[in-house]
Amino acid sequence: MTAAPGTRTRGLTGAEAAARLAGHGRNEVAADRRVPLRSRVAAQLRDPLITVLIAAVALTLAIGDHPDAVVIALVIVVNTTVGVVQEVRAESAVAALSRLSAPAARVVRDGEPHKVPSAEVVPGDVLALAEGDIVPADARILEAAALLLDESMLTGESLPVAKQPAGAQPDGGTPADGELWAGTVVLRGRALAVVTATGADSALGRIATLLRPRPEPTPLQRRLAGLGRVLAAVAVGLCVLVFVLGLLRDQPPGEMAVTAISLAVAAVPESLPAVVTLALALGARRMAARRAVVRRLPAVETLGSVTVLATDKTGTLTEGRMVVERLWTPHSTARVTGLGYGPAGEVRLDGEQLDGPTGGDRLDGDRLDGDRLDGDRLGAAPAEETEALLTAAVLCNDAALRPPPDGDTEWRALGDPTEAALLTAAGKAGLDHEQLRTALPRVAEVPFDSGRKRMSTVHRRPDGTLLVCLKGAPEAVLDPRVLAEPAQLLERTRRAAAELAAEGFRVLAVAQRDVDHLPDPPEDAEHGLRLLGLTAMADPPKPAAATTLAACRRAGILPVLITGDHPATARALAVRVGLLEASAGPGAVATGRELATGAVTDPTRARVFARTDPRQKLDIVQAWRGRGAVTAMTGDGVNDGPALRRADIGVAMGRRGTEVARQAADLVLADDELVTVVGAVEEGRRVYDNIRRFLVFGLSGGGAEILVMLAGPLFGLALPLRAGQILWINLLTHGLTGVAMGAEPVSPGAMTRPPRPPDQHILGSGVWQRVLWLGLVVAAASLGAALWARDGDRPWQSVLFLALLTAQLGVVLGLRERLLTRANLFLPLAVLASAGLAAAALYLPFLRDVLDTVPLTWSDLAAPALVGVVGFAAARLRRHEG
Ligand code: ATP
Repeated sequence: MTAAPGTRTRGLTGAEAAARLAGHGRNEVAADRRVPLRSRVAAQLRDPLITVLIAAVALTLAIGDHPDAVVIALVIVVNTTVGVVQEVRAESAVAALSRLSAPAARVVRDGEPHKVPSAEVVPGDVLALAEGDIVPADARILEAAALLLDESMLTGESLPVAKQPAGAQPDGGTPADGELWAGTVVLRGRALAVVTATGADSALGRIATLLRPRPEPTPLQRRLAGLGRVLAAVAVGLCVLVFVLGLLRDQPPGEMAVTAISLAVAAVPESLPAVVTLALALGARRMAARRAVVRRLPAVETLGSVTVLATDKTGTLTEGRMVVERLWTPHSTARVTGLGYGPAGEVRLDGEQLDGPTGGDRLDGDRLDGDRLDGDRLGAAPAEETEALLTAAVLCNDAALRPPPDGDTEWRALGDPTEAALLTAAGKAGLDHEQLRTALPRVAEVPFDSGRKRMSTVHRRPDGTLLVCLKGAPEAVLDPRVLAEPAQLLERTRRAAAELAAEGFRVLAVAQRDVDHLPDPPEDAEHGLRLLGLTAMADPPKPAAATTLAACRRAGILPVLITGDHPATARALAVRVGLLEASAGPGAVATGRELATGAVTDPTRARVFARTDPRQKLDIVQAWRGRGAVTAMTGDGVNDGPALRRADIGVAMGRRGTEVARQAADLVLADDELVTVVGAVEEGRRVYDNIRRFLVFGLSGGGAEILVMLAGPLFGLALPLRAGQILWINLLTHGLTGVAMGAEPVSPGAMTRPPRPPDQHILGSGVWQRVLWLGLVVAAASLGAALWARDGDRPWQSVLFLALLTAQLGVVLGLRERLLTRANLFLPLAVLASAGLAAAALYLPFLRDVLDTVPLTWSDLAAPALVGVVGFAAARLRRHEG
């Protein structure tokens, strides 16, 4: 056992820290360098389609077709600008998100603990490290208690490393023993350490391989890039066909080449990757506004297809505010009244109130020596037993209570809520925990860890003798290897614990023992103890828990509970929040032991997993994934990292979670509320729906343009559209309107339908059928309008040009879920702006020259207007598929 930290350290002053930050710079490994604008523009211009367009400008200039050269140049400028703007917007949204989930550290400054961004830690700062923290900078240990570190990220060594202040080892140790390295993880214990190096000077800074990798494209982006290539090949093939057919009809080759190139540019959805990135980034930003901070962009799309939500219990489904309600000792059961962590309430034993130390001065060591609790317990006074139980529970305890801050009435728990509840109960019995802790100072400890499920502390009595106090889960304590108690008593206590657990209580068993000398190794103190009793605490479900789980169910997401708590406690809660039917068979609850021994062969049949250790979460997630499920899993402990990474969506709690959990997660809930996950799923579905809607619109429009160019000549329309006209249509449809579609509100039915299958093709479940349908309708209607105009001696090409545009704008509006919603005014405005620009193309003399159009009369306009209505109706008719 190692000494418990206790020295008062004031740390740096705030002013000193600020000065050092200015002097040493931020504690960051490598700040992302900004990409200069010209590199961004150059990257856009390197796009193969743009290269082709640049060639087309040269070609048009060479054949003296200046108007087309102007339009193509305009398209290049607009496309590049839109591309750069979308990239910058997406990047700044992502950068803002990573600031939100930046690592934090606890430092002591001006004698007070502060939570600061890790980047602001400076040399000389005193770090207060606890289980689950990521060491933010290189540091020298000042004090440590049972400190265990995972240094594998730096050394590759997978075994945890115990650390103490330099020189504290019996053999003097090596100098490295007292050093902590940036980027390592505190697995157990606590420490105070003074920072020696930050930023690039730290171990993390020296290891280049740990530099943040460049963001990878998301699966959706990759799939779309593949799709884009296929579509581009098809479109280019068809355009070559248009070119060849044109030549066969004796069209001038130069003009035909420019037309075919323009058609290819219009038909290929080249803006797709940019639209998707932006849609994902904006989706992530909206999630952040709903307090769900996404740490990796792919999570936005994965969230929409989550099928299983594995949640933990304390603080997620329950309030995480424990209240001790029963105190069981071998001779009595006391009831505790009152709510919250405040002192209001009492401990009643056989109708009598316990209100302070019985039997004389309890701090002289006599009361705590355990001698009265002899084997058969005859003669022990219930009140004294209850007080002994509470006293040990207070000593073996790291929590603290804080009175309500101004303007509030609620007492606060600092530290583990389970432990804080014990302090409150002791207070109600008239015990002053601070006085007890001063009188019986802690000299050693084995901290709680969820694998062992117990903790123990050693205290020095005023007379110099030592007292061991231990508390933990009943199975971890009511064990002949731990307790020197008759089997009969152990059995009776186990039954009592099981009964309390079945009532939904979290049960702890408490024991104590005298020792003559400090045990070494530490765990040596944990046997031969005497049982003091059981504490039973309630942790009420959150009011919103049941409705949140019901919302998951409606959205086709199966909630399951994974907890370290007792199966009976877990089951009782699961029934209360509607996760489990009261009549559910025993197979619905699986324990960690059953998983470990193979007694449960298919974990996906269980809905509640109790007494699991964090490593088993990994197996559970794995089992679900093996079944094709897309899992979201909450976790906040130090050992939850691997499971959070393995789950499709690892979810960490922003306030309650440890730093490792937060950094391993894909999604951090800023408000620690499960319902926030449901909101994030809704946003994920919205992003995916909008991308698919954009695909329907973009692909059908491009397809219609190719069809018109191919079919036109068959009806005697030799060159249906000129290059400039095609590109103008492309500008108006793919530019503003395309981006506006990414911001469409969530569909009303998004959270009442099942999640999309994870392997669903982006064009699957109705998308390509709709592309085909709309492409055909738009092409046929536009051609019809052109033929009507030609037969009536009207300017058929301008009619066709306008008809193709109005049809596509009609489709945009028709694809909206709710036509008259005010949720995305950007879309109707973009449609209006496009209509305005279409009119400009026909009525502004300059544009008319460039685009080779003629102004249409009111009666000419009838046909394009009708085609717009047809496009709208066709989209409306089939908007719900898929
Ligand atoms: P949950 O899903 O509710 O968050 P958990 O994972 O927090 O459960 P653990 O913290 O691993 O559960 O606790 C497991 C068991 O260990 C508890 O049921 C309790 O019996 C015991 N326990 C919890 N906290 C302490 C503590 N501070 N000291 C001793 N025993 C504890």
